[in-house]
Amino acid sequence: MKDYYEILGVPEDASVEDIKKRYRELVRQFHPDLNKGDDDAAKRMAEINEAYQVLVDPKKRAEYDAIRKGGGTFVGDPFNRGEGFDFFDSIFRDFFGDFPFGSPFFSRTAQRATARGPDVTLEVTLSLKEVVTGTKRSIRFFRMEACEACGGTGAKGGKFVTCDRCHGTGVIQNRQNTPFGVFVTQTVCPTCGGTGRTPEETCPVCRGSGVTKKERTLELDIPPGVEDNDVITLKGQGSAVKGGTPGDINVVIKVVLPQGWRRKGRDLYTEVHVPYYNAILGGKVKMKTATDEEKELYLEPGTQPGQEYVLAGEGVPDKNRRYRGDLHVVVKVDLPTKVAPEEKQMLERIKQLYEKDKKRFGLF
Ligand SMILES: [Zn+2]
Ligand SMILES: [Zn+2]
Repeated sequence: MKDYYEILGVPEDASVEDIKKRYRELVRQFHPDLNKGDDDAAKRMAEINEAYQVLVDPKKRAEYDAIRKGGGTFVGDPFNRGEGFDFFDSIFRDFFGDFPFGSPFFSRTAQRATARGPDVTLEVTLSLKEVVTGTKRSIRFFRMEACEACGGTGAKGGKFVTCDRCHGTGVIQNRQNTPFGVFVTQTVCPTCGGTGRTPEETCPVCRGSGVTKKERTLELDIPPGVEDNDVITLKGQGSAVKGGTPGDINVVIKVVLPQGWRRKGRDLYTEVHVPYYNAILGGKVKMKTATDEEKELYLEPGTQPGQEYVLAGEGVPDKNRRYRGDLHVVVKVDLPTKVAPEEKQMLERIKQLYEKDKKRFGLF
């Protein structure tokens, strides 16, 4: 479709005044009287006149805008030869070029939408350890691939005949008369999918679909640092479709954190349970990191319930492995629900000490 706005060099929201002003400038530049014998200038002027006549008239302009937004091909008015210009000729050359479909009313720019095969969605569940270290996975999956028997054409032996419905043009056209000429909308021929040909005989292997189901194995490298619901996309590795390009594979990552673990960006949070005497006296406590390594955490004497220790660099790495978050360990102090007689005696003794010397212990 001709872009009248582009021809005049005005924005789509240009006012009538702007359009008139611009037109006067262009006339001064391209008027045939000023460009005697210059064919290009004459053609340009014809185009400018055509664009101006539509855009300067609010009613015509509104219709033109509607058609322009609706898509399709505006073929101009082949019977309006303009005034003093080789109008007819220039419009025809612009719109129809070399008449590919044997009729001047078919636009050369008939567009066949390229089909795209379906995406294949896979899911992978990772442990926290795998998220921290990165991992590889072999995933078995099914996808549609081009039928080997017919080369993905759907036609037995790859043999075709001209499509009856569109007579080989690949398009079905609709003509509409508008104030600016004939407006042709075209749709892809549904019988042949725009190829202009149909199978002489349907391929028996794929029943004409051009694709067959295949089981494949995907060797997937998963970088460290991925998050729950991240999607890894492998472009063009999904299912094939006849006459189109394959879809993608989308691998959805699911991360299962161990019980009692949380993640916040690159940082991890976990808990460590310590007996009450350990919290009071301080000392070592064994715990596991995100990569299942055993670590000893040094509690300072007088550690409080809920106190947090930070193991720097024991969190989740970013995707470039340049930085690793921290592991925050929250201390949970376990109090016994039952005590042995001897332990009870000792606790009674501690109680006496406390009560005797409240000041020294700084309590109560
Ligand atoms: Zn057809
Ligand atoms: Zn086939």
